[in-house]
Amino acid sequence: MSEEIVRGKHAIVTGGGRGIGLAVARALKGAGARVSIVSRNAPDSGDGFFRAAADVTDEAAVLDAFAQCRSANGAIAILVNNSGIAESAPFKRTDKAMWDRIIATNLTGTYLCTHAAIGDMLDAQWGRIVNIASIAGLFGAAYITAYTASKHGVMGFTRALAAELGGTGVTVNAICPGYTESDMMSYAIQNIVKRTGMAPEAAREELAKTNPGGRIVTPDEVAAAVVALCENGRTAQELVLPTL
Ligand code: NDP
Repeated sequence: MSEEIVRGKHAIVTGGGRGIGLAVARALKGAGARVSIVSRNAPDSGDGFFRAAADVTDEAAVLDAFAQCRSANGAIAILVNNSGIAESAPFKRTDKAMWDRIIATNLTGTYLCTHAAIGDMLDAQWGRIVNIASIAGLFGAAYITAYTASKHGVMGFTRALAAELGGTGVTVNAICPGYTESDMMSYAIQNIVKRTGMAPEAAREELAKTNPGGRIVTPDEVAAAVVALCENGRTAQELVLPTL
């Protein structure tokens, strides 16, 4: 029965070519959605997704990519703002270029993609916006000031837009995973190994310990949470993963 809600709807997943985004794209497709993927690299891999290339920091490119997705798959009903980057460094060693990169991708990208999709949802009086934030959107952690600020921004954006769109049929939610298996987490482990000389497995365990529940999240868990939020119609939810 739940599949009926997502079935046939057009879902755009930003950054859906790998990692968490790919798991989300597959899960939405599995639930019957027509899925478009928007990211900088968008090779057609014959897997049934429509792909359009855009850097989410570039407004014209986002509008163009979303128009291509609309032509291929129809009006946008579901948007998963997943594209993101992370970089870590002691604050004193960070520079404005790093700050700008992270805020532009994680926060401004979320704004631009949402703005490009919202008209379709309001016209249909039905829509689902799911922002992949982070537990770094809820708490502070050392060496990731820009990332943490960007994800707190995504949480503020989610809360404000959910409040504004209450009663319109468009829901706005955030998922806040702790460390999750992906290239991003592999880089975090490499970084710890390089800086501390720790063995990769020990570094991985240290990251797991910082997660609620003490274990690493799988991309499929995030994907299942996205599908559930699309189906259950709740809004203004902030879902922390992993669950225990
Ligand atoms: P990956 O590095 O594996 O994937 C990141 C994705 O974002 C890629 O598909 C990439 O595609 C896309 N992307 C990056 N920059 C841009 C850009 N400027 N324009 C368009 N697309 C872009 O990371 P994850 O899968 O781990 O991360 C996905 C999301 O989950 C991110 O928002 C991240 O912050 C969040 N998250 C991740 C956690 C983790 O531990 N892994 C924990 C909590 C949250 P391409 O390079 O083709 O553009």
